[in-house]
Amino acid sequence: MTTEVFTTRIVEELKNIIGVHKPEFCYQCAKCTSGCTANKVFSEYRPHEFVALANMGYVEEILKSGVIWACTECWKCGQYCPQEVAPVEVIIALKNLSIIKGYAPPKALVEMTKNVIEKGLIQDINQVMTKDFEFIDRDSLGLPPLEEPPQMDKHRNILSKFFGVVMK
Ligand code: SF4
Ligand code: SF4
Repeated sequence: MTTEVFTTRIVEELKNIIGVHKPEFCYQCAKCTSGCTANKVFSEYRPHEFVALANMGYVEEILKSGVIWACTECWKCGQYCPQEVAPVEVIIALKNLSIIKGYAPPKALVEMTKNVIEKGLIQDINQVMTKDFEFIDRDSLGLPPLEEPPQMDKHRNILSKFFGVVMK
């Protein structure tokens, strides 16, 4: 299979996942990047470039780079976009494709997902340090124990299904 054929098929898959948002309507104004939360801390992360690269068929290259996982899914880019392209939808679709194609997400994300599946939280409950360098926990502050979020079994199933391949 040539790269061209693979790329054409993968772009079609991407478009099917995105649905109503049409990346081909993007005219590269970069408004999405100007408002992007992830771009504020990671200047190489530029959603308008992902849309352009996806339009040109470089989907496989984006997936291999793993950069899409920096997206916080805050949806600001969708609100800034005058063309209703909503780069976030392209990026979420790319994340889905990435898992489908077997590309591993960042280790930290896998670790956090495991914690959510096992404990209902992204990390263990930590003690905090006071200005006097004392460590205190929820108990000593009179706070109740943290409860699992509602419908955790449902979320566990979905997360296990989505991340199951890469968590083995
Ligand atoms: S959803 Fe992702 S790409 Fe869009 S503004 Fe937020 S961090 Fe940036
Ligand atoms: S704001 Fe919309 S039209 Fe402008 S570059 Fe981003 S995706 Fe393209």
